[in-house]
Amino acid sequence: MRRFDVSRITCASCGHHQAVAAFASRCFQCLGSAFRVEIERSASGLDWEEAALSLASAFAVTTPIDFLDTDDPAGIYYRTHSFVNLAQVDGDDLCRFLKAPLPERRRMFVDWKREESESLLFHGEQVCRRCRVIFKPYANAWNDSGLCSRACRRAQEKSLRRS
Ligand SMILES: [Zn+2]
Ligand SMILES: [Zn+2]
Repeated sequence: MRRFDVSRITCASCGHHQAVAAFASRCFQCLGSAFRVEIERSASGLDWEEAALSLASAFAVTTPIDFLDTDDPAGIYYRTHSFVNLAQVDGDDLCRFLKAPLPERRRMFVDWKREESESLLFHGEQVCRRCRVIFKPYANAWNDSGLCSRACRRAQEKSLRRS
């Protein structure tokens, strides 16, 4: 079982939230066509597709982005639930995504993440593997471990101790 649902759409130019159900490819406020999008991704059960995709995306090992939640090695066996943020999605693409069946959504989602990771790498930036904020890495213990801040590292350590 797998789902990709758009949980939030925000105009990339004016910052207005858009109603997901009424979304029509342009910002209702400024008619902008680029959006920040939050996608809610959930899966449950033993997910062979996930496992296959993890292997298929081995090309991406040098990127700090684990959009497949591979930091959780048992993730493919259990229910996973996460929010993924995309910084720049074209309104027409987003409209197609909202109407698309699951396999198409999945394909578009992977393409978007790939484009995003390529452009991030180009700028030398990283995505925090805990909170997914984009940051410019410096030589310190938390940035070295792929986390945006000292606070995020502390939260990460806490959650590791709990599990
Ligand atoms: Zn706008
Ligand atoms: Zn963080």
